[in-house]
Amino acid sequence: MARPKSTRDSVRRLGYVFTRLWPWIRDERSLLAASTVTLVAGVAMKLAEPWPLKFVLDRVLSGGAAGPPAAADPPPVVLVLGLAAAAVVVISGLRALLEYRQRIGFARIGNRVLRRLRFQIYSHLHGLSLRYHTEKRSGDLLVRVMRDVTLLRDVTSTALLPLLANVLILAGMLAIVFFLQWKLALLAVAVAPLIVVATARSGSGIHLAARRQRKNEGAMAATAAESIVSIREVKALSLESSFEDRFANRNERIQKEELKTVRLSAGLGRNVSILNSFAVAAVLWYGGWLVLGGQMSAGDLVVFLAYLKKAFKPARDFAQHSGRLAKATAAGERVMEVLDEQPEIHDLPGAQPAPRFAGAISLSDVSFSYGSDRPALRGVNLEIDPGQFVVLTGPSGGGKSTLISLLLRLHDPDAGTVRIDGQDVRAFTVASLRQSFAVVLQDTALFSGTVAENIALGSTDSAPESIEHAARLAEADEFIRRMPEGYATAVGERGSTLSLGQRQRIAIARAILRAAPLVLMDEPTNGLDERNKWAVTRALLRLPHRATTVLVTHDPEIAERADLVVYLEDGAIVEAGAPATLRSRGGRFARLFADPASGRVEEAR
Ligand code: ADP
Repeated sequence: MARPKSTRDSVRRLGYVFTRLWPWIRDERSLLAASTVTLVAGVAMKLAEPWPLKFVLDRVLSGGAAGPPAAADPPPVVLVLGLAAAAVVVISGLRALLEYRQRIGFARIGNRVLRRLRFQIYSHLHGLSLRYHTEKRSGDLLVRVMRDVTLLRDVTSTALLPLLANVLILAGMLAIVFFLQWKLALLAVAVAPLIVVATARSGSGIHLAARRQRKNEGAMAATAAESIVSIREVKALSLESSFEDRFANRNERIQKEELKTVRLSAGLGRNVSILNSFAVAAVLWYGGWLVLGGQMSAGDLVVFLAYLKKAFKPARDFAQHSGRLAKATAAGERVMEVLDEQPEIHDLPGAQPAPRFAGAISLSDVSFSYGSDRPALRGVNLEIDPGQFVVLTGPSGGGKSTLISLLLRLHDPDAGTVRIDGQDVRAFTVASLRQSFAVVLQDTALFSGTVAENIALGSTDSAPESIEHAARLAEADEFIRRMPEGYATAVGERGSTLSLGQRQRIAIARAILRAAPLVLMDEPTNGLDERNKWAVTRALLRLPHRATTVLVTHDPEIAERADLVVYLEDGAIVEAGAPATLRSRGGRFARLFADPASGRVEEAR
């Protein structure tokens, strides 16, 4: 009978996940070999377990009637019984020991593979483009890193290997019972096709439910992460109930799928039990006749029945494990999906570590589009000398942030070249290139840790004096000292215990300490009140003069201090020059000056 298509599909998927995992598992080959040997030896012990009883039945209790003619001088009964009893202890003891070793061995393999796989997916996620991260929901990615990887371990240690052991046990039992009495063996295996059909039927249902469950879990985590990360907005806009409804909906679907899996698994176990009882009954009936007819010994029949009972357990286990395997397969596919995603930005072959730059920046004919038909930058040409203070300004959506992200190689241009000190930025390794920049963004995220750690983040100098010096220049020293534990105060997650102005000044202190040859700032004074704005502005003007600084701002007073002002609109440079020149020319920049609010007005367009 043809198996349902989805079962075949599930087997193919499991095979795929396993092949993908194989390189990691292969690295553990010595442990794998040792554990497999213990597994096989354990199976042999399991097969040997009913034999002492057979021995006692045939040699002692039935007076050797069915066995070969007794030797002239039979061993004393007490010796046979003693030997059989000792064998029971030895066989069971060995089996227990081997099972213990084998479980530990496979768990160790599973855990090692898990550890490396988890690290790989985490670091791979860091390498993936911003575009990927904006498209994917962070909660879902978190579930993949944490729970899906853990579930996947089940494939290697807790489900696939017991399954392998079960197959070995079944094969061993079949061989022995056919050897003992083939007619009776045929009768016993007559129910096997029915078991296969039952398993295939439930198996496909279990797999489908497991896949849906994993998907719903990812979506539920994404919803939770979204509202928890933006809890201020959720509260302010009173969105709690709409998020709760979405969460509850997914939660309920997960529960339904879980129940379905359990019902299918339990149903399979029940069907296998019933089929097994028919097999036992048939063997008992026909085997009894064979013993009476002298065609087999009573001991053989006992071995037969013991095996049949045991054969039932692997079949039931299979039902139980197949549910877990299905979950693990679904989880594995989600993990591999992330790993298959190619980072857009990566080191080109032959990329060199960036040297200490002098700081000249040049863009020639640079165009870039985020995929929509409207390009974010169109044929931009720009030359910046080392140490220059450059202000990028213009209406919102003009392409300022895009230009900054091209310098950092968060994206590569579709056409044209971005050069630093005359060299294409793609000639350097991505990490070393980004090391050459200090960056202050609109809303600085701090990370869990102390204030001092947050300032020292990403720089090689973490001496307390240097940190405090940087903080003084950034006008952050005073408020930091007023904090309960000064520089050792722990900041809340993402710096939520500090005001925006304080976070920006910490970011500037960070940039000062980093002493990078290139400094990029994207509207660092955005959203600040006058007092904070000036504190931040004074701080950023104190940045080391040697560094080339590119600052995005709408603030004419800051722009006035620049060496070069670049006005970007619709992805193109419409004005560029010294602020005084631009002002006297009376163009767009001059308008910004005449009415400082006009930048904002234009932005709001
Ligand atoms: P600015 O910094 O001057 O406000 P941006 O560089 O952020 O401008 O944006 C330039 C253009 O690119 C805008 O039209 C904007 O809608 C678009 N854009 C910016 N970021 C993305 C993104 N991640 N995906 C798609 N389009 C984007």
